[in-house]
Amino acid sequence: MLLLRPHHINCLFFYQGLGYSKNFTIGMDKLVTLIKENPYSKVMFIVGCDILCNNCPNRQVNNCCITQNKVNELDYNTLRTYNIKEN
Ligand code: SF4
Repeated sequence: MLLLRPHHINCLFFYQGLGYSKNFTIGMDKLVTLIKENPYSKVMFIVGCDILCNNCPNRQVNNCCITQNKVNELDYNTLRTYNIKEN
């Protein structure tokens, strides 16, 4: 099962091969390929760091993002917009 931050479904949908760093785009490329090859993968939405954050230079050692408040807001907005429940 994939663990994803809710707002990352938007990032994946609009992804055009660019990102925060080379490692980040490599991680995005891998995830996009994984989802395309496994379109029925199960996903759990978590408001917290996920597989994409693992390769992001904005991730902090305490498992947070440097823009934690902003990304949390994006996550909760995404959950509301798509009527998705966390976890
Ligand atoms: S660490 Fe922050 S900026 Fe980086 S992918 Fe995760 S939520 Fe996005």
